[in-house]
Amino acid sequence: MRIVLLGPPGSGKGTQAALLRDRLGLAHISTGLLLREAVDQRTELGLKAKRYMDAGDLVPDDLMLGLIEERLGQPDVSNGFILDGYPRNLAQAEALDQVLERIGQPVDLAISVTVNEGEIVDRLSKRATEEGRSDDTEDVIRNRLRVYAEQTAPVAGHYAERGQLREVDGMGSVEEVHQRMLETIANA
Ligand code: ADP
Repeated sequence: MRIVLLGPPGSGKGTQAALLRDRLGLAHISTGLLLREAVDQRTELGLKAKRYMDAGDLVPDDLMLGLIEERLGQPDVSNGFILDGYPRNLAQAEALDQVLERIGQPVDLAISVTVNEGEIVDRLSKRATEEGRSDDTEDVIRNRLRVYAEQTAPVAGHYAERGQLREVDGMGSVEEVHQRMLETIANA
């Protein structure tokens, strides 16, 4: 199974992706995690990406494409995967289609995790306190939500056009949402 997870910052999609990885044995590909690793290791990509991440802006598409192509070239990908954080705009969605077609691993399903706005702000502020991520300050959170609404929300339409989009209610406990995800995947 090859799944794209969509949802705003704070929707819990990273948590859900990790649970699906453990449950279904899929590779969890989180571009946010890959980028934070690159930043920590001070790779060329990390050095270039940091200022965009700290501002809550999207890292340029050409850098992201290099990163995702490299990750999708790894052997675990042939057992199926969950993409978490990519694609984040329509250009990335189209680039991804081409890469996946080339490697013969097209997306089966896109799952959009929905949460109301008040909950998002609460969760992100809580994460800021707990994890101390440098992009979890109030101004940057606001920008990330704006970037999401303008650039990432339209990506759902890309998958809806092909009948591949499913919505999952992201409110409630982690376990409740996980069960909804499993049901959605089973019925896909
Ligand atoms: P969140 O979903 O909470 O916003 P992520 O960990 O997915 O956090 O991403 C953190 C930051 O990494 C984003 O704000 C952005 O700067 C960068 N990033 C992650 N994925 C992408 C992507 N596909 N395209 C461009 N930038 C990205």
